[in-house]
Amino acid sequence: MRAIKTVKTAVFFHAHPDDEALLTSGTMAMLAAEGHRVVLVVATSGERGQADIAPGEALGATRVAELYKSAAALGCARVVNLGYGDSGLGPDGGIAEDRPDNAFIDADVEEAAGRLAAILAEERADLLTTYDPAGGYGHPDHVQVHRVGGRAAEIAGTPIVLEATVNRDPLLKGLRLARRFYPQLDIRAFERAYSPGEAITHRVAVRRFARQKRASMAAHASQATGADTRTLGAMLKIPQPIYRFVFGTEWYVQRGLPPGTRLRHPFEVPPKG
Ligand SMILES: [Zn+2]
Repeated sequence: MRAIKTVKTAVFFHAHPDDEALLTSGTMAMLAAEGHRVVLVVATSGERGQADIAPGEALGATRVAELYKSAAALGCARVVNLGYGDSGLGPDGGIAEDRPDNAFIDADVEEAAGRLAAILAEERADLLTTYDPAGGYGHPDHVQVHRVGGRAAEIAGTPIVLEATVNRDPLLKGLRLARRFYPQLDIRAFERAYSPGEAITHRVAVRRFARQKRASMAAHASQATGADTRTLGAMLKIPQPIYRFVFGTEWYVQRGLPPGTRLRHPFEVPPKG
């Protein structure tokens, strides 16, 4: 009889400390609670993020410490920092001119993917999460996570690759509604951000893990001038009621599944089609 591997290993690949809190922390807590091995990998220390501390080495060290705190709250078994430089954001939200020499966006995709693939192989990972091709809201390091993650899974032969995203349909609907009360709200950027509902293959209900998700967000105190409602809310400058709706579900896209696939768990086997 063939042994069935019931305890699986999931590697969550993120650009910066705190991205895991926003996009995948509920799923991570759920998988850990189910007894699976959850590994968190970040590409950078996030040393050029917006914070009360000035950008630089001290901020990077603070944010990595926060990452470990978040990982502990979520039940992660291991945390790895690939140690690339945070590419930061240009004034227009694009690529920053004054980025460090080892900026993640300047890393050779093959080299970076090889390093991540080594972790996937060592962990015999069943699943890797990356980002959608838009890199969510378009941070250059997030786009690079998409490229590097996809290639790493190819090299390592990781069977399931899920692109962590947000269902932009209800997000846009909420934002259009909110514009009545916040006329200054500029929603154009969101029309291309994240993924349309029709592309989403996995809707993972994580409300049961809201406590862990909040703890994960709260762990990133250097980013949290406004307590735990900051991450998506402040980063994307969206009002709190809309922010709340993204709290209960996490969304993923698995490429190559038939259109209309709707799965509820990362390890759910898609129907043959
Ligand atoms: Zn990020």
